[in-house]
Amino acid sequence: MPAAILHVVATPIGNLGDLSPRAQQVLREAAAVCAEDTRRSGQLLAHFGIGTPLLALHEHNEQQLAQRLVARLLAGESLALVSDAGTPLVSDPGYRLVRAARQAGVRVSPVPGPSALIAALSVAGLPSDRFAFEGFLPAKAAARRERLAVLAGEARTLVFYESAHRIDASLADLRAAFGDGRPAVLARELTKLFETVLDGSLAGLHARVQADADQRKGEFVLVVQGADEDADANLAEGRRVHAILAKHLPPSAAARLAAEITGAPRKALYGASDSGD
Ligand code: SAM
Repeated sequence: MPAAILHVVATPIGNLGDLSPRAQQVLREAAAVCAEDTRRSGQLLAHFGIGTPLLALHEHNEQQLAQRLVARLLAGESLALVSDAGTPLVSDPGYRLVRAARQAGVRVSPVPGPSALIAALSVAGLPSDRFAFEGFLPAKAAARRERLAVLAGEARTLVFYESAHRIDASLADLRAAFGDGRPAVLARELTKLFETVLDGSLAGLHARVQADADQRKGEFVLVVQGADEDADANLAEGRRVHAILAKHLPPSAAARLAAEITGAPRKALYGASDSGD
């Protein structure tokens, strides 16, 4: 008997045509499909005429169920793991089961396919050779702002997941932390009927989202260009020179001269003297 496999199967993020033929075969042949929401995944399986039994595996029972599932795998039953949409483990449950299976020596094999993260990045037109996936920003405003302050200087393209009820607040906080002019792309309802990919500055995207209620509906991926490292270095030098000049000159003159010497934006240096930096 061939050794059992835990298949980690990507499912569509909207368009059902994106379930690959191999994913269909694996789901059909597995002893059971572990799903975040059995009702939702049941509809997907029914659409493809797949009658494999479903088993609920979510954040709250994963730890507890993992060993039982590993025992089934060790007994020779191949299982499939899916999430509600996209690739399991990407801002979705599954890593505890995958880790437990691997630790038990069970083969874990991917059936790759849709993920909102990669789908958004692939159409954003922002630098994608290196990127950092941040998942969901914290729901509470203070924690979200703290996280964004840490990320403001990150040079890699940043990718965030966002929900309809927080997109407005998150864009406002992103503008405050990264500046109005930072280029970004808002990818909404990818592969679905109302798919929209907007690009522009953070301020421009925020204005469009605020002006049109439709642009606040559905599921979002926000892709934000990384910080310009040259501009950051310039600003740091401008602040250093400004701090020296400000000891001897009025703040406005110190800012004007520091800007002239270093090329840093004068306004940003004024900000530094205002805030006592
Ligand atoms: N594992 C999934 C994946 O690989 O894409 C992500 C699961 S996460 C719980 C759900 C989030 O993914 C949504 O809140 C949204 O930010 C993003 N998302 C999922 N489907 C999307 C779609 N069709 N268009 C845009 N964003 C989507």
